Amino acid sequence: MAVENIQGKYITFADGEYVIPDNPLVGALAGDGIGPDIWSATQMVLDAAVEKAYAGKRKICWQPLAAGEAAFAATGSYLPETTLAAIAKLRIAIKGPLSTPTGGGIRSLNVALRHHFDLYACIRPVRYYEGVPSPMKRPGDLNVVIFRENIEDVYAGMEWVAGSEEAEALGDYLRDKLQAKLRPGSALGIKPVSPEGCKRLIRSAIQYAIDNGRKMVTMVHKGNIMKFTEGAFCQWGYDLAKAEFSDQVITEDELMTKYQGVPPSGKIILNDRIADAMFQQLLLRPSEYDVLATLNLNGDYLSDACAAQVGGLGIAPGANVGDGIAIFEATHGTAPKYAGLDKVNPGSLILSGKMMFDFMGWNEAGLLVEKALQKAILGRKVTYDLARQMEGGEEVSCSAFGKLIVAAM
Ligand code: NAD
Repeated sequence: MAVENIQGKYITFADGEYVIPDNPLVGALAGDGIGPDIWSATQMVLDAAVEKAYAGKRKICWQPLAAGEAAFAATGSYLPETTLAAIAKLRIAIKGPLSTPTGGGIRSLNVALRHHFDLYACIRPVRYYEGVPSPMKRPGDLNVVIFRENIEDVYAGMEWVAGSEEAEALGDYLRDKLQAKLRPGSALGIKPVSPEGCKRLIRSAIQYAIDNGRKMVTMVHKGNIMKFTEGAFCQWGYDLAKAEFSDQVITEDELMTKYQGVPPSGKIILNDRIADAMFQQLLLRPSEYDVLATLNLNGDYLSDACAAQVGGLGIAPGANVGDGIAIFEATHGTAPKYAGLDKVNPGSLILSGKMMFDFMGWNEAGLLVEKALQKAILGRKVTYDLARQMEGGEEVSCSAFGKLIVAAM
């Protein structure tokens, strides 16, 4: 697939920094199901924001890339090599949802993409937009950014069917060599958690907090039970903070013992919470939390629970980020029953575009997108998912909602 475009320039990455030209080539994967609908509304909104913010001085040169069912129909592959090569060269891409092929082979295209590019940080900011129906009394109290480790943990894909030759062989080894108590015929899975994997995730969470004026990073874990995996995640985080961020970060213990509980200005507090308690904390005292760092499975649960608190997945954005490659994505799935109906909410992908602008340093465009989306929601002409729960809400199509956001800029 050609990614050459005479109008656009490639984004480059050197010494840990992205260099963004004024006319960057950016990958666009519309995705499956409702993907094409939400992508076309999103593209309209993002282009309008760049035009409004930079008056022609900047422009995104979108590079459409094939993945998912359309790619399979055309090439026999759900994730064609040409698409993977193009993303590697483009470095930044935005994608709609991809359906998980049924019947073996690839477990999930999204997981495959994360592993292929080693996109180790799944970043999900969760904040409330006024007017969005929420089950909470004060949904605005929640404003967190979740950094979820994307590659390791029970998600690493190492598990074996109950009774299989592999499970029996591993079971025998564990029983014989490590005195593990295992019932015969057990299914087995492995939970790999490495110091390198944990530290790079927690490093990016702390760096994000520093760069964005956040006050606290909380490591969420089940280290009380899984001491050598979840507990180690937390301990490696404290080790990392001491080794690499001692000027910028203090621990919660230090806050109490050295600073009498009063946070010194300019310092970020690093603490940790047990995952089950954290679910309660986020419901009962949401305003006390800021940036969260988690292993893979905890982060999966936590990010959807947080999204529900502020009104659901329909407008929750996300990004999967590695060193030198970043893919911004809608966090919901392909909602196949609404495919092609121009009906669903494009908010998740639009706000992922806002995240992408911020990531590129195009904050003016990002702010325009966010403010316009907020204004459009307050106008109460919204897609069905919001309209049906909103007093006085009027349902409009996906594309019409996109146009209302553009009009609100
Ligand atoms: P889903 O998120 O696609 O849909 C569940 C329901 O949520 C929908 O029926 C719809 O009522 C609602 N919904 C989802 N997105 C919406 C939007 N933008 N606006 C309004 N309402 C919306 O979840 P599912 O049905 O479990 O999964 C369908 C397919 O999507 C599966 O193949 C699954 O593997 C895939 N999936 C992909 C991703 C991804 O690409 N990141 C994530 C989750 C699921």
